[in-house]
Amino acid sequence: MPELPSFEWPVFQPGWVWLVGAGPGDPGLLTLHALNALRQADVVVYDALVETAILDWAPGAERIYAGKRGGKPSPKQRDISLRLVELAREGKRVLRLKGGDPFVFGRGGEEGQTLVAHGVPIRVVPGISAGIGGLAYAGIPVTHRDVNQSVTFVTGHDQTGQAPSALDWRAIARASEVIVIYMGLKHAAQIAGELLAAGRVPSEPVAIVRDATTPRMSVLETTLAGLPEVAAGVEPPAIICIGRNVLLRQALDWQAGPRAVDPLGTRVRPQSA
Ligand code: SAH
Repeated sequence: MPELPSFEWPVFQPGWVWLVGAGPGDPGLLTLHALNALRQADVVVYDALVETAILDWAPGAERIYAGKRGGKPSPKQRDISLRLVELAREGKRVLRLKGGDPFVFGRGGEEGQTLVAHGVPIRVVPGISAGIGGLAYAGIPVTHRDVNQSVTFVTGHDQTGQAPSALDWRAIARASEVIVIYMGLKHAAQIAGELLAAGRVPSEPVAIVRDATTPRMSVLETTLAGLPEVAAGVEPPAIICIGRNVLLRQALDWQAGPRAVDPLGTRVRPQSA
């Protein structure tokens, strides 16, 4: 292999906490900064959504699990944040590893705030979020010029675990041709109902991408009307994508090999256009 360009890798200083995105699963989707962090960390505090294969990229680090397991109550967010403060004060290089991007529905902001409030220096390493990269592995472009000029990322439940009633579904239904829902399985029926009531069509294409980018990945295609029933049979984690961009999977499901179809029924855009 040809030599790589030189690069000033940031040095992980003792007493710092780096909030790092692990991407959606496939270790190949880690950023170079994430890899650099994993190689220097003394301790990795990781969530349930982080693939264990990724921890193997930090062979020298102590591992601390901070997610839900076996029906036991999950550690409280405040306890996790304070544990990070403690570890940093012990002089460790603390890598807080989160699935996807730490600042996308990942509470990275909250943890960062606590660290900053306690005077702990932080660095943030963004990651590929499941709602973008996970869909790409399913052959679904989150935007496409023939489909959407905007996309809405939304969480399927609020802090109390309820469907986010504070959300204005009517506005969301009207605002974006494509809606990408994180944590949406539990309340899929209610969400589908709200979107239909707001005027989205029952035949609108929907994909549910589960365990995206991992060897266990599966993709179910349905419609908005069919979403409640299909979602009921799926275990988290999954991304729900609602919109005509889902049809592009018929041409772009690259893991299934080359295809020659035009799912939107539009001309194929010349690359230079
Ligand atoms: N910070 C993460 C999101 C955390 S919220 C990110 O940027 O991707 C947790 C939700 O993310 C899950 O309930 C699911 O909706 C989604 N998610 C995370 N990883 C996923 C994966 N590999 N496949 C499908 N959905 C995933």
